[in-house]
Parts: sequence; C-alpha cells; structure tokens
Amino acid sequence: MSKKFGFIKDIVVQDQKEKRFDGKVATRFPPEPNGYLHIGHAKSIFLNYGVAEEFGGSFNLRMDDTNPEKEEEEYIRSIVKDVKWLGARWQGDMRYASDYFDEMYEYAVKLIKKGKAYVDDLSPEEITRYRGTLTEAGKESPYRNRGVDENLELFEKMKKGEFPDGSKVLRAKIDMASPNLNMRDPVMYRVLSSSHHRTGDKWCIYPMYDFAHCIEDSIEKITHSLCTLEFEDHRPLYDWFLNELGVHHPKQIEFARLNISYTVLSKRRLMELVREGHVEGWDDPRMPTISGMRRRGFTPESIRDFCEKIGVAKANSTVDVSLLEHCIRDELNRKAPRVMAVLNPLKVVIENYPEDKTEELEAVNNPEDESMGRRMLPFSREIYIEREDFMENPPKKFFRLYPGKEVRLKHAYYITCKEAVKDEKGNIVELRCSYDPSSRGGWAPDNRKVRGTLHWVSAKDAVKVEARLYDRLFDKEDPQEGEDFKENLNPESFKLMKNCMAEPGVKELKPGDRVQFLRKGYYIADTKDFTEEKPVFNRIVPLKDTWAKIVRRKTGKKKESKK
Ligand code: ATP
Ligand code: MG
Repeated sequence: MSKKFGFIKDIVVQDQKEKRFDGKVATRFPPEPNGYLHIGHAKSIFLNYGVAEEFGGSFNLRMDDTNPEKEEEEYIRSIVKDVKWLGARWQGDMRYASDYFDEMYEYAVKLIKKGKAYVDDLSPEEITRYRGTLTEAGKESPYRNRGVDENLELFEKMKKGEFPDGSKVLRAKIDMASPNLNMRDPVMYRVLSSSHHRTGDKWCIYPMYDFAHCIEDSIEKITHSLCTLEFEDHRPLYDWFLNELGVHHPKQIEFARLNISYTVLSKRRLMELVREGHVEGWDDPRMPTISGMRRRGFTPESIRDFCEKIGVAKANSTVDVSLLEHCIRDELNRKAPRVMAVLNPLKVVIENYPEDKTEELEAVNNPEDESMGRRMLPFSREIYIEREDFMENPPKKFFRLYPGKEVRLKHAYYITCKEAVKDEKGNIVELRCSYDPSSRGGWAPDNRKVRGTLHWVSAKDAVKVEARLYDRLFDKEDPQEGEDFKENLNPESFKLMKNCMAEPGVKELKPGDRVQFLRKGYYIADTKDFTEEKPVFNRIVPLKDTWAKIVRRKTGKKKESKK
C-alpha cells in the first residue's frame, strides 16, 4: 500500500499537513500526441490518478500539443481510449495545451516587459555554439540587451508572421554562465509557419516545452507536477518562469521512469518498429503499448497491479519482465476458466473402448474457485493428445506416455500405450492404447500410482482452433545493447499454430474472453479475428512462472505443494 506511491506520498502528506496549496491535490497526465501510449505511460497514469484519488483531489488529462509538426488525431483518439481502458477518470473535459496559446503569449509579453526576455536574431546553430559546454560558460548574444520596446515590437512581428522560420527566437534572459545549461537563456518561442491541428494557421510562433509546460500546469492549478527524472535539471527553469510571472506555482517532483527487461519503452523506437514493419502495428500483441497489451490479453488490473508492485523510486532501474507476466498469470489463475486444447495433436485410439460410444465426463472449470462450476466433456474411442506428451525412447525422468507406460487423462481414465503406428517415412501418426474402465474420473480404485496427467480432447467432438503464440519481442535482456536495437529482435516472438484441437465449449466463447488452456498457458479469444466458425486465440503468457521461481530462490521458500 505505501510502496505504490513511495516517496511521493510522503511529500503530499507533508504538504497537506502544512496546508500548502490550501490542502488541495491536483495532478495531471500530459502526453504528447505523437505516438501510442506504452506501459511506462501507464505507470505515470496510475501514479497521477492514484495520488489524486487517494487524497480526494482531481486529475486532468492534457494533450501536450504545443509542437504543430508531430501531433495527429489518430494518436489523440488512441490515448483517450487507453487512459479510459486503464480506468483513470479525468476531471471535466480533456485539456489541450494549445488552448492556452493566448495566455502563454501574454505571459511572454509580461516577461519582456520585466526585462526578462528578449528577441534573438542568432541562427539556431549560433545559439548552440554560444551556449557553451558543461565545463565552459556560454557567451551572451549580441542581441541580448535590446530594449523592452524593441523586443515587444519584434515579438509582435514574429507573431504576425513577418519573419521566416528559424530567423528569430524569443529567449529568457537568465544567465549564460549558469552551471545548468537549461538556464543559459533558454528559447521560449520559435518562428514556425506550420498549421496546427487545433489552432490552424492562427499562430506563426510556437512555445517551447519548458516555457509551455509550467504555464499549462499553473493555469490548471496543478499542485504536484510529477515527471520523470530527466526533467530534474529542468526544474530550476520551471521554477524560474513561475516565480518571475508570480502565478500559481505547482511543485515539480521527479520519479524514475519505468524500464523493463527485454522491452523497449520509447515512442520513437516503437514508431520505428511499426514504420519498418517489424510488427503488425501499434497494437501488435507483442508491443508494450497499451493497445498491444490489450490485444495480447492483459487486463487493466494486471497492469495496475504491476505498477503498484514496482512502486515509485527516485533512482532508475530495470524491472524484470517476468514480474509483469507474473501479475497477469496471478490474476488469471484466479479468474480464468480452464479449457482443454491440444496445440500439436497426435491421435490416440483406445482399442478396448466401444466404437460408437460417447460419454460425458465432469470437469471443474477452475480448481481455484469452486463457484465457477463444472462442465461436461465428451469422451470417445479416439482422442488427441499433445505430440510432445509421447516419446518412443524417453529419457529417464519422462513421466508422460511411452510404449508400455500408463498415464492419467485429466478428468477421464488411465490409459496405457501399446504401440506407436508409423507411416512409411517413419513418422508417428497414431498411438494405440488401452484404458482401464474402473479409473473413470481419473482415479483407479486400487490407488495405483501414475505420475503423468495429460490433457486431451475427443477427436470427433474437437473444434479446430488457431493459436497465436507470442513471446518476448526481444531476445536480449537489454535490447539497447549493440549498434541497432532491431538486431536484438527475437525471431521466435511469434509462432502460428493453425491446427489445434479444443474441447467443444470454446465455440461459446466471445472475443475478449480469457481462458487457461490446461498445461499450456493463458489465452484470449482474439478481439479482431475470433469467430465461432474460426476460433482464434492469442497466448497471453505460458503457465511457467519464472518470477515466482526467482522470488523463491531469493526468499528460500518452498513451492506450495499441489494436490
Ligand atoms: P517516450 O520517451 O516513450 O517518447 P515521452 O516521455 O516522450 O515518452 P510523453 O508523451 O511526453 O512521452 O509522456 C507523457 C508522460 O508520461 C510524461 O509525464 C512522462 O514523464 C511519462 N512517461 C513517459 N515514459 C515513461 C516511463 N517509461 N515511465 C514512467 N513515466 C513515463
Ligand atoms: Mg516527450
């Protein structure tokens, strides 16, 4: 509970105690609509929304659309959808930074009048050259000491579009010798004759992030402006603008951004994957985008659980992707009904079972939750089992099927393998087995031991389904390693299994339903392609929990024994 907001909660509690901001709490999530949201953004959303909720405050959603060249409506729509899906509710209408362009302009004029801002004619390259380095002070621009009236007039002309792009900028007049490069007369406005998605051609000048962002927060009366660590060096500037303007002054607090192993979290890189066709789109089930994770089968609860488990820290680190997988597995273990599906079918003929008999066997829907009830499974003389559950010449500890070996069919009977039938090329095409009629339900009256329990489906009742097996998109723990992150793409991140056989009940599932394919993993009926005629499932995660293993190793706890 306390970990989920970490040190940020302590700060807010202290501010409340001191009656800072009149005891109010107001947060915001300010995405730039230049891509789809990813799970790093989800962390920021849950943090901002969570803090507001916990303290009875308000939460705003604001499109940070100050850059006219990048924003697109498609991204705005996707962001709104994702934030809603995650369950964050914002106060009033969604905001747009561009709605504040008039006020920003007025504030800039105010700074010029105070002698705190000036119009500079240096070219962008010269400005960079004059800025100096970490070890060397910057050089003042020859235009730095223009008079207030001249600055006002030039700035007005910039606004009217009288100067070509890039020819002039408005800069804050702070300190060219500051050890913090952000304070060396940062640019506030640039000339850019670009059409904006909301303000059209009204503006020929656009504000820079540092100037715009603090004003947006101030106008919305944000109290705690939470951002990622790379903005720590920008905080003095955030504070400088608001102090000079004498307006409502939120507290900027930085936290560590989320990094996950085997995962890339940067809109720019994700965009590259989409544009170059390495994935099917922003919502490819392997993408760490919210839309990709939704299609993959993650729930908002599992993403929230993950974000709360990792908490909020002040130092950057990388979270093990297996924790994320653990969170969805943990939820679905409790909630997902069990289904039998054979991904790679091998036919088994039970020779002593009557030819045209079919019987119904009872199966629990979820051993973790009796209230989910039971269902009946058809059983007959011919069934499918998983091809890898049989080996002709097994190694020592192989407890599944081989010639002469007896195993349990889940919810059904004990069967013993008599022989493997091969085609002329030597491929195994069928197994001949016998069953013990007294072991109905999966237990023999003499309690004799069988080690292996296999899942199966009745051949004549089986429904053919397609399974899409997704795995980690990158096969390097740090995909950034090496020259090009795309060289670390996992060639096995997608495997199509077209001829899987599932129990007949899968026909009743609806797109978006999640199930556990017994012994195989958690799957979701694909929201785009699933139909009753052609059921398509995405693998969310396999069953094996590597995270739980890591934790057990660390804590020395034994695995809970299974009945
Ligand atoms: P990216 O680096 O992926 O391009 P960004 O920071 O440029 O992301 P914005 O749209 O500017 O994307 O981000 C909106 C909010 O989400 C910001 O407050 C930002 O700090 C936060 N955010 C972005 N990435 C992460 C992350 N990995 N972990 C936590 N918060 C993040
Ligand atoms: Mg950004």
